Amino acid sequence: MVTFFADLRRFLPRGSDGPQRYTVREHATVDDLLALIGVAPDADLTIAVDGEQAARDTSLHEGAEIMLLSPMEGEPQPQPPPARRPRRWKGEPPDGTLRLLEQDPARESRRSHHLDRGAGRRRSSAATPADAGSSRHYLLKYVPKGADPLGPDNILVIAPGVLTGAPVPGAGRHSVGAKSPLTGGFGESESGGYWGAELKRAGWDAIVFHGVSPTPVYLWISDGAVEFRDAAHLWGKITGEVEDAILAELGDPRIRIAQIGPAGENLVRFACIANELNEVAGRTGMGAVMGSKRLKAIAVRGKTPVKIADQPGLLAIAKWVSGTMDEKHRAFHEFGTGAAMQGKSLEGGMPVLNYRLGAADTIAKVDAIAVRDQVRVKMGACYACSVRCKKVVHIEEKEEAARAARRERLQGSSACGVRSARPLRRRSAVRRTGVRVAGRRWASISASTT
Ligand code: SF4
Repeated sequence: MVTFFADLRRFLPRGSDGPQRYTVREHATVDDLLALIGVAPDADLTIAVDGEQAARDTSLHEGAEIMLLSPMEGEPQPQPPPARRPRRWKGEPPDGTLRLLEQDPARESRRSHHLDRGAGRRRSSAATPADAGSSRHYLLKYVPKGADPLGPDNILVIAPGVLTGAPVPGAGRHSVGAKSPLTGGFGESESGGYWGAELKRAGWDAIVFHGVSPTPVYLWISDGAVEFRDAAHLWGKITGEVEDAILAELGDPRIRIAQIGPAGENLVRFACIANELNEVAGRTGMGAVMGSKRLKAIAVRGKTPVKIADQPGLLAIAKWVSGTMDEKHRAFHEFGTGAAMQGKSLEGGMPVLNYRLGAADTIAKVDAIAVRDQVRVKMGACYACSVRCKKVVHIEEKEEAARAARRERLQGSSACGVRSARPLRRRSAVRRTGVRVAGRRWASISASTT
């Protein structure tokens, strides 16, 4: 008898959440177990047996614990820090450093560096899974006092977190930062999904966009290769059409795309940046800053596993989260943050009609329970997350025949005075244009998380 955990939940049997027990033949290997479960022989993943990274031909013993995780690389044991070397950075950054890609769409220039030491400090002190610290650092470094948020002097910083791309729940997030066109202050927003992890797998820890492009462009990052491509044919299009067009153009369905819709192009000051159509960096108008640079989208494909310094430690954490799903995370899995809506309304903290009211007697008609009962199809997840707190809901066939199910968030519904879970399905039309119907703090004066 062996026990099977999967941080990549798609490898668990349908409908199951926690560890599974399997009886395998004597001298069975990991490959035998994977064949039993139905995992494709060429599936891109990391295997661990009893907390140690293992190969597919590793033999299983009675009581073995097998985990499947997102691909990663690393030394089996923590290594002592390398000796200091002279700080000479020319051309490509050396292996093992945090890599910064600086781009100016106007000049088609590419500068590839290590992250500044100051950015590293601010990044490591950031309290969120994404990297707001790099945004702060580069805004202070590059943006002059009085700069127009929608002018060429503003920058747009996109940075996954230290852990993004590692195979642990919560490691799918990235931060977007710029001077906010909504507030004139520091603007920052975060998004989940898979895009940030893909950027890390392409080998980049942050991107800084400078200047303004004379014509619409999109950026294509394929591992170390980076190029701007013409986006004139995409300008004015809604997000789903752009996603389809870029995937067809680049010919790889596994590419992840972050993009703006017509709202960002038209500099709507609360426009968002959407990745994988469903996830958004929605606060403080980052989509408008991207639109001001005439940058329609950033397409990323990365094939290099993220390097982990302490693999056993990380595997232990991933196993703990996966193994305690029922005990610790069941409520989040069942309802997400929508579980708190009734309580928030009771304490007067719901953004009803965009905070004109703090409570509503119709909350029970739009909260997570109503969504589960009326429109929810299943739960979805960000990269490597076993909690799976995201609701996938059914939307009208006539709207999106090809996209039968999409996730919608709940809190914005009360901000707009929605009184039933069913109209939530129609909010996808809003999402397609790239504006965010946010709930709490949607016009916040500084950073906020999604
Ligand atoms: S699925 Fe939910 S809990 Fe998991 S990383 Fe995404 S937002 Fe967080």
